Amino acid sequence: MNEKFLEFVPYSSVINPSFWSKVVQIKLDVDKLHECYRPIWGFFTNVDSNTYRTPLLEIDSTSFNLTCPEAVGSLYIKGHFVNKNTIESFKECDKAHILHNEGLNIWKDIISGAALDNPSLLNKFFILAFAELKKYHFYYWCLYPCISKLKLNLTSITNLKDCGSFNEQEVLNRLLEDYLKLDNNQKQFFLIKRSDLKVQTLNSCFSIKTKENILINEDDYFFCFSDPCMTDTYAGWPLRNYILFLLYYCPKLAGKSVNVISFRIHRQESQTLCDNSIIFTVRISNDIGPLEDFVNEKDSWIGWERNEKGNFGPKFSNMRGSLDPVGLTQSSAELNLKLMKWNLVPNLDLERNHSTKCLLFGAGTLGCAVSRSLMSWGVKSITLIDGGKVSFSNPVRQCLYTYEDSLKGIPKSVAAVKNLKEIYPLVDAHAFSLFVPMPGHPVGESLLKQTLETVKEVEKLVKEADVIFLLTDSRESRWLPTVLGSYYGKIVINAALGFDSYLVMRHGVRQFPGPDTIPVEENHGNGVKRISGENLGCYFCNDVTAPGDSLHNRTLDQQCTITRPGVSMIAGALAVELAISVLQHKDGGRAAAYYKTENVEVFSSDIPDESLLGIVPHSIRGFLSTFSQVLPATQRYKQCIACSDVILNEYKTRGFEFLMDIFNSSKLLEKITGIEEIYKNIPEYQSISSDEEFTD
Ligand SMILES: [Zn+2]
Repeated sequence: MNEKFLEFVPYSSVINPSFWSKVVQIKLDVDKLHECYRPIWGFFTNVDSNTYRTPLLEIDSTSFNLTCPEAVGSLYIKGHFVNKNTIESFKECDKAHILHNEGLNIWKDIISGAALDNPSLLNKFFILAFAELKKYHFYYWCLYPCISKLKLNLTSITNLKDCGSFNEQEVLNRLLEDYLKLDNNQKQFFLIKRSDLKVQTLNSCFSIKTKENILINEDDYFFCFSDPCMTDTYAGWPLRNYILFLLYYCPKLAGKSVNVISFRIHRQESQTLCDNSIIFTVRISNDIGPLEDFVNEKDSWIGWERNEKGNFGPKFSNMRGSLDPVGLTQSSAELNLKLMKWNLVPNLDLERNHSTKCLLFGAGTLGCAVSRSLMSWGVKSITLIDGGKVSFSNPVRQCLYTYEDSLKGIPKSVAAVKNLKEIYPLVDAHAFSLFVPMPGHPVGESLLKQTLETVKEVEKLVKEADVIFLLTDSRESRWLPTVLGSYYGKIVINAALGFDSYLVMRHGVRQFPGPDTIPVEENHGNGVKRISGENLGCYFCNDVTAPGDSLHNRTLDQQCTITRPGVSMIAGALAVELAISVLQHKDGGRAAAYYKTENVEVFSSDIPDESLLGIVPHSIRGFLSTFSQVLPATQRYKQCIACSDVILNEYKTRGFEFLMDIFNSSKLLEKITGIEEIYKNIPEYQSISSDEEFTD
């Protein structure tokens, strides 16, 4: 007579795209360069839904949860996941070694008794993967370790409901009820006592102590397991590890004939039934020798999954098409930043960048360059104020505008926001098409109401912002935002351009009202001086004339200061880099500035409390004619026309009325601050004016 052996159907892995999204997130944010051996969950079902006949093991984003997620009809098993750093290490790692180790882990759980209390440990998996993060390509290979060479002679296959003991519906119902009361772990492997047809857990029948002379007779029990396989003639993968367990705890079962129940459930109308379960009557082979040797043999374990072609080899998943494109663009946009944290700047606080609200005055060449750089640093909230419209001369220099925008004459701020969103849909950008009132630009009666509204709007925006960028095309247009930035203690970054030079600086940040004494600059040794962040000057501190109408009575080439095209890109980029260095500094806007008294470079080694990105200078002056750059720092000026206490006090007490006075006559600033007096005492004084000319 030909011997017939029971055959087993392996699991097929079904990996939900949400799992891969989680893998990307964990790799970038947590594991970085570590190839962590991560515990995960997978789930299968023994509910026959008449769709899949083959056993499926499903894995999704909940697989990384610390506790096993609960879901009706699903059984959870433990696995491990390793994401290799390179495709080479993925290919080269020793698969046979992994298989043997994972198999022996099951054996260890059997002999330690762990699987007695938690039978689901007999059912394990492992995923070896390599994630190509930039392309969203995933290579993976699943392993379901299972003892091989354990032959089960198949004597008969009987439907449970046709078996004498179970042929009453009432018995089956009670059995199912008992089964459903078991927890996830006990459900996977259990026994039914023949005498009373009651469900028994493994640890109620076996124990480590009695395993040598266990009193179990093969005929006394049905050995049951929740079977992921739904075919009539095959059993699911977990059965052989169960038999290994039984042989360890009850060695005399070797060579014996046993009844194994492949426990399956199905739903009929609103009823849950188990009458589709199957009894395999099998004789366990007795030619395997001592188990300890058997499990340690080289090819005792099997379980690497076959790929779609039916070969033993990794599967490939291209998630580009199936992941949400907006989510994809978000994680891809952040990829570069997250990679910085792997090795280069591990403590980089990306959340700080994400949550920082930036307000940009001016949406010209500088405004465009700054907003793009901010986005690439992960800044999400960008608000642009600009009263101009996109003109034909703009698109070639101003990187956010197109010919179409100039054709339609769209307001610059509106076009900038539209195009920022086109570049990155998740940016939280807002446009305000406003002309910011300026000193020396008198406001007529007819514009009074509108000016009041504009000032209110600007005040509100400054209050809400964390960082303010001054990127406008005139000196006087920076005055109001400088006053407001000082008053509300905001980080203010200023960029101004000359033909082939630029100035990028941050304003001091201090409490107002606060001490009005300005200490002498501290010597820090090695020719290095230090100015605290509270006492750094603003853009106007070095400039003792009040800003007037700089555009009045100027020819076109004087009005639109001509710059070398690269200057605005360089200055825009530096403005953002300076802002980010400030944000990443532990003292934020109050970070001290260090500078050398001679015109030499400040080395970061000279500076004790630098940002994690390096030093945080007060100002950066660059000259394209010599391709050079210097980092001067200056203290705030007690009589500054924008940031001094006297000005802030005027603003505090008189508010809009004070601002209106200044808009109507900028000379008033010199009077209020007492600069006027100084002029009188300088006989040779003619005119001290800013050396920057302006363009935006
Ligand atoms: Zn100042």
